[in-house]
Amino acid sequence: MSLTHPGLSVFETLESEVRSYCRGWPTVFDRAQGILMYDEEGRAYLDFFAGAGSLNYGHNNPVLKRALIDYMERDGVTHGLDMSTTAKRAFLETFHDVILRPRDLPYKVMFPGPTGTNAVESALKLARKVKGRESVVSFTNAFHGMSLGSLAVTGNAFKRAGAGIPLVHGTLMPFDNYLDGKAPDFMWFERLLEDSGSGLNHPAAVIVETVQGEGGINVARAEWLRKLADICKHWDMLLIVDDIQMGCGRTGAFFSFEEAGIVPDIVTVAKSISGYGLPMSLCLFKPELDIWEPGEHNGTFRGNNPAFVTAAAALQAYWADDEMEKQTLALGRQVEQALAAIRAEHPMAIREYRGRGLVWGLEFTAPALPTKVARRAFELGLLVETSGPKNEVVKLLPALTITSDELDTGLGTLARAVRDCT
Ligand code: PLP
Repeated sequence: MSLTHPGLSVFETLESEVRSYCRGWPTVFDRAQGILMYDEEGRAYLDFFAGAGSLNYGHNNPVLKRALIDYMERDGVTHGLDMSTTAKRAFLETFHDVILRPRDLPYKVMFPGPTGTNAVESALKLARKVKGRESVVSFTNAFHGMSLGSLAVTGNAFKRAGAGIPLVHGTLMPFDNYLDGKAPDFMWFERLLEDSGSGLNHPAAVIVETVQGEGGINVARAEWLRKLADICKHWDMLLIVDDIQMGCGRTGAFFSFEEAGIVPDIVTVAKSISGYGLPMSLCLFKPELDIWEPGEHNGTFRGNNPAFVTAAAALQAYWADDEMEKQTLALGRQVEQALAAIRAEHPMAIREYRGRGLVWGLEFTAPALPTKVARRAFELGLLVETSGPKNEVVKLLPALTITSDELDTGLGTLARAVRDCT
């Protein structure tokens, strides 16, 4: 299939050059169900991309779809700013009963806007307001979104350059294993904090992903996260976990930080929280941090009520017990075994594989290869994206509701794509 496919011409002539995913997958998608997407010619693609982590329960999940259709058919409120609605009440009650209370998490819930970067901006604003300091620490290869505040704590040079203005008040520190284990954890960060000559302004907060998704599937060890939480406490800095991509069960537990046994001060959640691919984000914080004035942070699209409906339905359907978590961890072991076999077959081309739960990355030695592999996978009917600063990683992010057989099929296709490209 070529870029001159006639059905693509309006995208090529009218849509901005900024478009990206569609370039790697040059077809016109029309329908989607579960783990499959279909193009307008009826060709099926196994989706190991899942809306960049927004479709943890698959496309058009029937349980969520039923709840949404019922709500829309009875003319439930669609747009509600931050008015109190029955849909928002049901979401908040369910989130409290199914997620927060069983985990003993004390958080207040803020609806900062429709998308992940809105949640990050609100988290940064709140941390700065609470501490009365402007500086925030983030980590190498972090990705926190495309608005200016989020970009200032993001590592990627290409994305940062797009800002067009200086990105200030953010300082990047080495993420776990950035120095290949050659320096003790946090040696540089602690040295700067201790030394009044270091030039580091006392940070208000530290923002971290437990697994860096866009940054190349870099997995922070639980002990590294625990040490970070200790440092934050010791130096009076708020700990913000950005769980936008790794939350909602992606790594197994509902929140990706649960495994480390830490309780962040602030948590950002988006992507799969609505469960249906509808825009919705949350900023969660400890109650004593709730010093906002009414309306101090607002926005027109904070009350996406259809998203509240599908979010509540998803929590009830998948998180009332620990089945989803167990299944994700079991399926993750299946992915790990398959990636180990692919690596064993191509020891020169593949540097390593890494992941947690159902997020995995296959790092290639030649940065050009992952894009070729993803293109070959597309030709073979599998959607995978690439990540990492040089796109050196093939990233696997299937829906958590995938069956073991479907996973097997996709991993087989991936193995074939790698073979065809090496
Ligand atoms: N934070 C993380 C960890 C992300 O992975 C992303 C998106 O990929 C964002 C923030 C930004 O979310 P959005 O694209 O919905 O603004």
